[in-house]
Amino acid sequence: MNIDEQTEFDRKHIWHPYTSMVNPLPVYQVKSAHGVYLELENGNRVIDGMSSWWAAIHGYNHPYINNALKRQLDEMAHVMFGGITHKPAIELSQKLIELTPPNLEKVFLCDSGSVSVEVAMKMAVQYWHSLGKPAKNKFVTVRSGYHGDTWHAMSVCDPDTGMHNIFSGSLPQQHFVPSPNVGFHDNWNSAKLSMMDECLAKNHSNTAAVILEPIVQGAGGMKFYSPQYLKELRTLCDNYNVLLIADEIATGFGRTGKLFACEWAGISPDIMCVGKALTGGYITLAAVLTTNHVAETISNGHPGVFMHGPTFMGNPLACAAANASIELLLQKNPFAKIQEIEQQLNKELMPAKTVKGVADVRVLGAIGVIELSNPVDMSKLQSFFVEQGVWLRPFGKLIYATPPYIITANELSVVTTAMLKAVKSI
Ligand SMILES: *Cc1c(COP(=O)(O)O)cnc(C)c1O
Repeated sequence: MNIDEQTEFDRKHIWHPYTSMVNPLPVYQVKSAHGVYLELENGNRVIDGMSSWWAAIHGYNHPYINNALKRQLDEMAHVMFGGITHKPAIELSQKLIELTPPNLEKVFLCDSGSVSVEVAMKMAVQYWHSLGKPAKNKFVTVRSGYHGDTWHAMSVCDPDTGMHNIFSGSLPQQHFVPSPNVGFHDNWNSAKLSMMDECLAKNHSNTAAVILEPIVQGAGGMKFYSPQYLKELRTLCDNYNVLLIADEIATGFGRTGKLFACEWAGISPDIMCVGKALTGGYITLAAVLTTNHVAETISNGHPGVFMHGPTFMGNPLACAAANASIELLLQKNPFAKIQEIEQQLNKELMPAKTVKGVADVRVLGAIGVIELSNPVDMSKLQSFFVEQGVWLRPFGKLIYATPPYIITANELSVVTTAMLKAVKSI
């Protein structure tokens, strides 16, 4: 097949994320990727401004991660995790326990972000079941959240703006409170937590946990909120006797300017999910961390084991990629570079604030967001960005960048210039 025939085959037969099989938007065929560049089959290359959805934090084809994978491949690609263990999983779990907030001591390795959310929710339910409180099996969450595409993960995504409202009739019903209506830098006022307080006061006896994304709500709206909200929520959860699940899948590994976003509030959740950048964007892998208390309660209850165990649990190749990615991230202090990216995004995106049709511009860590008043024409913008030499994938009213941390100032300027040009042309 030549390139055109391949593209035609793709159009006819292959689903892409959130696409139509009748009227699919154009797709670009990527031949290879190096550093921040995606090399397209047509010979062009574009700067990836979004790290393949928050994941490729070191860019592509990094020799350190490549070599780690090659070495692991020569040892073994995979082996079952039931009754077997291996060094890549042990090393990774050790790193995660050390780097995540205190008290998270037990690690469950699983396949993807959505699956880790399922695992976290099952843990919370099984915890209360073990304590003889099976009625505590619902979840409280905030609007504008996104936690993945599987069944229970969907049930805690924003029910309206979220991408899953057509399934709402068959999803478990959860308790929703308004999105934290207090920006990252806004002055704090405890009234901002009153809806959450009321919801927990009313529903704590049937609630297993509060689940939310700490500090940055990602695919549900790219909103940043005050660390004080998270801090006081931790106390509320303790007071009402519900667990706190932090979904750090998007925010983890430095993206917000801290290694994990929970650090902004100085809190430890009872259960935490990580994914996306865990393997530096190389292979799917996620992890759920929890406390000794939650793990021991489950294990001392009935049936005495945690009821989950994926076929590819702890995949050695994925663990090797994660180990290499984390080592690379911590080799040098990554926060100086992330702060430089933040300053540059601030300087270069803020001028968009005065452009007609722009509702807001916000930046935190290596995340830059331009929110428009109206939804964008994604396919039009996508080809515009490719012409400008950048890869960005806007959604809804949002044009955003989450670049690889290795991006240079000049490369980042190409990205921000294209974003500004885009909003001016709308
Ligand atoms: C991406 C994402 C998920 C889902 O992860 P997948 O690997 O796509 O299943 C869950 N929660 C958050 C916050 C995410 O950003």
